[in-house]
Amino acid sequence: MRVIFHEDFHQSFYSEDEFDNGAAEGRLVNLINALRDEGRYEIVIPAAATRVDLLRAHTEAHVSAIEQNKPRLYAMAALAAGGAIFASDLALIGEPTFACVRPPGHHASRAQAWGHCTFSNVALALLRLRDAGQINSAFVVDFDQHTGDGTKDVLRGWPGATVYNTYGNSAAELLQNLEDRLKTAPQVDLLAVSAGFDAYIHDLGGKLSTEDFFTIGRLLQGYAIRLGHQRRFAVLEGGYYLPDLGKNALAFCRGFE
Ligand SMILES: [Zn+2]
Repeated sequence: MRVIFHEDFHQSFYSEDEFDNGAAEGRLVNLINALRDEGRYEIVIPAAATRVDLLRAHTEAHVSAIEQNKPRLYAMAALAAGGAIFASDLALIGEPTFACVRPPGHHASRAQAWGHCTFSNVALALLRLRDAGQINSAFVVDFDQHTGDGTKDVLRGWPGATVYNTYGNSAAELLQNLEDRLKTAPQVDLLAVSAGFDAYIHDLGGKLSTEDFFTIGRLLQGYAIRLGHQRRFAVLEGGYYLPDLGKNALAFCRGFE
């Protein structure tokens, strides 16, 4: 398994919003260290997404507004989108990949940024592969505490794309719902995962344990294996309890790899 990361993601000054906890200083330090210390994951460096890549998912007005009004945010968000693109390319050749990027993407709709998300990282990566004729279908599983409304918005109109957001009032219920959904999930060309860790017991959702993130990863791995081709990638979304973000992401990777 590969991990995608760029040192620029450590910069927190890309966001001008003081309430943007995704942009918190040092947010990815413990995360990338945990994955690096595992010793088994090759860390690879992404390139920024091009304007053409972004325009597959977003309106010209949205992309131009960010580019002109918030150039630092544009640079960081294009790099995050490039991380998702790289992850999807590696997944396609059979290499499970986790893209450790920020800003996250699952709330960004076609026409606007929202919820600290600028560009729709997962969706634009999938649209690129579809437009290149490399996939016809994809299943997106989003286990962030919050619904990936932006991903749904960007992918609407593509019958081959199915989006599932995990839900449940308890960890046990959420895991059971996911397991049940995966049993009847479609045969697709690629599995994409929006990996948010804010449903963690000490984070906003107050629900999932570190072990539960391993289980989620393992359930998704099982689904990818049943697909036959095993193609899968995940992209970081939320996750704000920094002391345990590394161990939670590592638990997920150990399940998903
Ligand atoms: Zn979230």
